[in-house]
Formats: sequence, C-alpha cells, structure tokens
Amino acid sequence: MKDSKPGNGLTPGADEAVLAQWTAVSNLLRGDIGEAAYQSWIKPMSIRSIEDSVIQATVPTRFMRDWVVAHYAERIAALWQQEVPDVRSVEVLVRSEQPSAVQKPAATRPSAADSASRYDTAERERLSAPLDARCTFENFVVGKPNEFAYAASRRVGEAERVPFNPLFLYGGVGLGKTHLMHAIAWHIRQTTPERTVVYLSAEKFMHRFVQAIRESTTMDFKNQFRSVDVLMIDDVQFIAGKESTQEEFFHTFNALVDQGRQIVISADKSPSDLEGMEERLVSRLNCGLVADIHATTYELRLGILQSKAVQMDAEVPAKVMEFLAHKITSNVRELEGGLNRVVAHAQLIGRDISIEATQEVLHDLLRANDRRVTIEEIQKQVAQHFNIRTADMHSARRARSVARPRQVAMYLAKQLTARSLPDIGRKFGGRDHTTVMHAVRKVEELRAQDPGFAEDVDLLRRMLED
Ligand code: ADP
Ligand code: MG
Repeated sequence: MKDSKPGNGLTPGADEAVLAQWTAVSNLLRGDIGEAAYQSWIKPMSIRSIEDSVIQATVPTRFMRDWVVAHYAERIAALWQQEVPDVRSVEVLVRSEQPSAVQKPAATRPSAADSASRYDTAERERLSAPLDARCTFENFVVGKPNEFAYAASRRVGEAERVPFNPLFLYGGVGLGKTHLMHAIAWHIRQTTPERTVVYLSAEKFMHRFVQAIRESTTMDFKNQFRSVDVLMIDDVQFIAGKESTQEEFFHTFNALVDQGRQIVISADKSPSDLEGMEERLVSRLNCGLVADIHATTYELRLGILQSKAVQMDAEVPAKVMEFLAHKITSNVRELEGGLNRVVAHAQLIGRDISIEATQEVLHDLLRANDRRVTIEEIQKQVAQHFNIRTADMHSARRARSVARPRQVAMYLAKQLTARSLPDIGRKFGGRDHTTVMHAVRKVEELRAQDPGFAEDVDLLRRMLED
C-alpha cells in the first residue's frame, strides 16, 4: 500500500515482499467483503511489519482499530496464512498512539485491552472459539431486562464452586447472550488461568463431532471435551432435530456435570420451548438455573449507547442518542451497528454527528425498525413533551398552554398519518376540519419565525416518524 511508511524496521527487500503480500491479501478481502467495506476499513490500514509471525498493522483511530479487530483481523490472518504459512495473527494499532516504529507497541501501551484486542490463534484452549475482547462484564450495561441473567453469569464467573449446573441463558437475538458467555470466559481466564474454559457455538460443536466421526477420532473428541473445566455452548437450538449430535452432547454434558465441571448454555428459547430436543436433554437443561433476557427498554438502550460512545471515544450529541434509542428498538446488535455506522460516517466524511446525518446514514435500518404511528401515539408523545395531560388533546380548553401543543399534535397528525382533516378533527374532541387546517398553518408559521420551536417540532416528529 502506498501509505505504509518505509523504514519501519523491515529490510528494504522484506518490505517489498510484505507489501506485495498485503496487496494480494487485501484484494482477496475486497472480493469477499465488497467495495464499500473495503474502502471504509481496509484501505485506510497500513502494514508496518511482520514480527514473530504477527502482522503489525496500523489504522487512524481507536474506533477503526476495534472495528477491524472485531470484524477483519481473523480473516486477514487466515488469508495471509495462505500466502505465508507461519503467519499467526494480526495486531492492529492506532497510528497516533504509535510514535516510534522501533518501539514495541506492547512496551508503550501494556494495557489489558491491548493484549486482549490481539487475535491470537495460539490460544491455550484449542477447542474454544476466539473471544471478543469487548465482551466483558465491565462493558455489559445492566438494566431491568437483563439484570437477572447478568447476576447469574457473574456468579458463575466468580464462583469457586459450581453454583448451579447448567446456567441456561435464553432470549431473543442480539440481546446479549453471547456477550455474557464471553464475559464469563474472560473473567475465568483472567482470575483462574489454570482452569480450561471452552466456548463454542452448538454449530461448531456439531461440526467437530461430525469431523471426528469422519476421521475416526471420536475417542479423542470425547476425551478433549470431557476434560475441560468450563464448557460453554452457544445457540444450542442449532442442534434441535440433530439426533446424534444431541446424543453426544448429552453424554458430554453428563460426564462434565458428574465431575463437578461448569456448563453454560444459551438458546433463543427456554429449554421447555425448544422444539426437536430430546426429553432427557430438556430435563437436564432445566436442572440448573434458567435465566432469560427480556427485550430492551428505552432506558437500557440509551445506557448502552452512552457506554458504546465512550468506548469508541466518539462525541455523540445526547439528542442523537435519544433519537437512536427511540427508533432502533429491535435489539442491541442493531442499535450498536447503527451507532457504529453513524460514528464511522462522521469520522470518514469529517462531519459532525447530527440527527439529519443519522437519518440519512441509517435510512434502511430506521425503516426496518419502523412501525406506523397512530394519532393516539402522537397525542401522547406531544402531551408528554409539553407536560400536559393527554386528555387535554380532546378537551375544549383554549388556554395557550394546551392549545399550542394540541395544534402541534394536529400538525404532526397531518404530516405523519394518512388521515384526512375531518378525521383528525374528530380525534381531537370532535373538532371541525377548518380547526385542523388552521392549526397546520399556525404551526408552519411559528416554525418559520422561531427556530427553537421548529427544532422542538422536528424532534417530536423524528421520534414519531415512520
Ligand atoms: P445474542 O448472543 O443474544 O444474539 P450478543 O451477545 O451477540 O447477542 O449481543 C449483540 C451485540 O450487542 C454485541 O455486540 C454485544 O456486545 C452487544 N450487547 C448486548 N447487550 C449488551 C449490554 N447489555 N451492554 C452492552 N452491550 C451489549
Ligand atoms: Mg449469540
């Protein structure tokens, strides 16, 4: 790549070879991930060197580092291995935090986060899938919907003796099940590194099992899995209907429980609601502690956004976070993805983060989270905003303090619903359509005169908009 600095500790010849490798790898990746992602994340990367089989790359910001580590480092390492077999992993550093090319990065920033953000294929737990460095207890925002699952997970992470077996976490997609499992694993690896923690998806468990059958190494497979201290299987619903995998899992499960080892399971449903699961397995799964994660609340979503913004070191206006927390209600993954896109866009384009830009960038995501707004919802939201009773939307009171909000609600009803003026009038205490028309004009007039008022109305609109 053009912008990778020469004189970075490589011999001139090696430098060229590494750059040629990088060109090949990044082109493969480009075909894999598409032009847009390539331009956003891969092109800005510079390769400094390969040291001790670790590729050292730099990116302009911490946010980009986290993103690249989470989404591409593993892929890059795998592709690079095809070119140079002894390449082991990719280390991604932030350019500005990297004053000298001669200094080892570990010596300048020996923080836990840095070593954690390094994807290392030579993990001690060979059976385990890699853990996401960001998925720790510290980074998990606790609220009503997840406090029980969080407390149970912490308990498992911190306990010296198995407190309950298994811990069964369940909930809808993107609500934090995998995060909690990784957090337990990180915690145990940090506090009691002598214990073997293995985390993997049920899908991977099955693939390993099938592979072992094919290669006639099922004994090894059994021994490996039956000698771990903590076994975590994610998304266990995947093995529904897969009889022999269930059978094997059942035996592994029993062997571990009998030896007093900890098991943690996640699924999208409670054990009893899982279909295509053998009865004896279901009853085993029900034996320990079953903890569900509920859908997020507005407060939790806002808390998560605030925490992620801090992690990304990004300045996100409160209004934008409130807007996102209102609009993206599906799950935390989408919420986080939305915030990432907004921040990345602002950083790449060099523009401030605003509600307008957010709407533009997240057009598709917002649409997917949309629902049709009703006049009742508009009345409720507007009443709440202006601190009046919702009943005053229908009342005959004419005091300015209630008449103005009522006009705003009528205006928004006209803008955001397909209802006719007479229809709207009827919903506002049986008022005439000319009253609605007057309200719409009045609000337009006030908007033109008073930017503060216009901003207020726009905010309300965005909160309600579909
Ligand atoms: P699941 O496994 O339930 O589908 P994940 O654990 O993968 O969901 O969560 C999706 C994303 O949302 C992850 O990036 C995770 O870190 C994040 N996330 C979920 N819940 C929280 C939370 N309470 N606090 C912080 N991040 C969260
Ligand atoms: Mg998951």
